Amino acid sequence: STQIQLVSRPTGWPTHENFRTVTVELPELEPGQVRVVNEFVSVDPYMRGRMNDVKSYVPPFALNETMTGGAVGRVVESTSDEHPVGSLVSHQLGWRDVAQADAAQFRVMEALDGVPSSAYLGILGMTALTAYVGLQDIAHLRDGDVVFVSGAAGAVGSAVGQIARILGASRVIGSAGSAEKVELLTSKYGFDAAFDYKQGSVREQLAEAAPDGIDVYFDNVGGDHLEAALAEFRDGGRAALCGAISQYNTEGPTPGPNNMANIVTRGLSLVGFTVGNYLDRFPSFAQEMGTWLREGRVQFDETVVDGIENTVDAFLGMLRGENTGKMVVRVGTG
Ligand code: NDP
Repeated sequence: STQIQLVSRPTGWPTHENFRTVTVELPELEPGQVRVVNEFVSVDPYMRGRMNDVKSYVPPFALNETMTGGAVGRVVESTSDEHPVGSLVSHQLGWRDVAQADAAQFRVMEALDGVPSSAYLGILGMTALTAYVGLQDIAHLRDGDVVFVSGAAGAVGSAVGQIARILGASRVIGSAGSAEKVELLTSKYGFDAAFDYKQGSVREQLAEAAPDGIDVYFDNVGGDHLEAALAEFRDGGRAALCGAISQYNTEGPTPGPNNMANIVTRGLSLVGFTVGNYLDRFPSFAQEMGTWLREGRVQFDETVVDGIENTVDAFLGMLRGENTGKMVVRVGTG
């Protein structure tokens, strides 16, 4: 099995020197174990946080061990009746081409017609669940709300915009980091307005896109995006604080929002959340998202990097914005 391990903790931007690729000889299966050939492995922004040696909601990655994280694959050898050879499974064993462990670590998934298995890492998985929970359980989206989402062409953001529209938002605005992404937001994902945050002040571009203000801000970025949203909120505005990717690779403290007065005077609520605390919402999410996909009401993109040996490049590329929709690594013939 080819596996990628973290060997040192990055300061600032990670580099290839922080990782190594190892080849591990897998032993015979023990009773109760399953061997899975991965089709896709996930690279996600939260992994950057886990590379630091700080206490967080998830413990740091261990050094000299294989990177864990979401993956989907097929069972090729099994001693478990619930995991017959050929079943599609998802698991958290991360950056490796072949995973072998106790059957309980693998969850059997339904293979859906016309939907690649990678969808279970994105539009049918944790990132779209994050969008679903953030809008409903955290931001308490209401009919007629004006919604702004940053990181809008990414895995979470592209789901946020589309789900908001389906659930009754009156206007959906997104920001992203290139002209191509901005074009996609309005042409493919049904956003009413979108802007490129690299082409000018976020504050000014948001004010132009939301002349009557916003009710909900879904924050994937933090920093100047959060600042701009605070300025444009209407009374009773609600922010779901999902991530702050503009700060994941910065060294030292970064300035916070200055516009604290509006939080008070406009009665705003800013609520953070992690999707792991809302896994009980998965069944209703999976059912609704399945329907929306079948009905063509939700579109999704994936950026696929080929080869387990290129996982670090895929991870760094995602942090730099090289992805549209979910960034995944295709393993073998995936
Ligand atoms: P994405 O698919 O959105 O990929 C990351 C994107 O971030 C890049 O494509 C890039 O797009 C954008 N980006 C990178 N640097 C910056 C920057 N300095 N300013 C603005 N945008 C930047 O990843 P995910 O959808 O998986 O995650 C999106 C956010 O949601 C992250 O903050 C992540 O941590 C968070 N998250 C939180 C969860 C939770 O439970 N709270 C669960 C899952 C994700 P661009 O070209 O537009 O710059």
